[in-house]
Amino acid sequence: MSGPRLVMLGRQGAGKGTQADRLAAHYGIEHLSTGEMLRQQADAGSRSGLEAKAYMDRGELVPDQVVIDAVEECLQPGGSLADGFVLDGFPRTREQAEALEHLTGDEPLDLVVHLEVPTEVVVQRMLERGRDDDTREAIERRLQLFDEETAPIIDFYRSRSRLVDVDGVGSMDEIFARIVSVIDDHITARA
Ligand code: AMP
Repeated sequence: MSGPRLVMLGRQGAGKGTQADRLAAHYGIEHLSTGEMLRQQADAGSRSGLEAKAYMDRGELVPDQVVIDAVEECLQPGGSLADGFVLDGFPRTREQAEALEHLTGDEPLDLVVHLEVPTEVVVQRMLERGRDDDTREAIERRLQLFDEETAPIIDFYRSRSRLVDVDGVGSMDEIFARIVSVIDDHITARA
């Protein structure tokens, strides 16, 4: 039986990556993180990877087409697209959301989980995890871009009745239990 097709949306530092990892293990689906894909390309030292790193270090979004191409390579009809997946960090712009609608075609998303965490909490978490691109300037820029570019996508999915808001404050286990419960409720309701 195929697993759910999911998207995790939320501010950077909201815990999308950690929760997406656990969801992937729980449902036996693939975890697709565009940030991870881009970091791997940058580490491999390819020209496009290094170009992407320059955007990432500034906290800017990498151009849409670069990210859409990377996702398209992973979401193949004979692979994750049919078997289920959890996308983390994508889509982040309206153009990416529309490309994803197109890519998923006859296998539409089951659910978009919006992990809600207040700004003060995510800033603190990001400063604590201390990744290369987690400077205060880059963090502020990413949060600004979330409000400008990604928040409108929440409305895009909400208007298509595919979005659920989940409180992202609490322990990792508590948040995971909340997410699984909304996914299972949703899937049962549709079955
Ligand atoms: P993340 O690991 O999701 O926090 O992503 C790290 C960085 O990768 C972001 O700050 C962006 O520069 C870039 N990135 C990741 N996903 C996307 C995306 N969907 N669109 C544009 N840039 C992205």
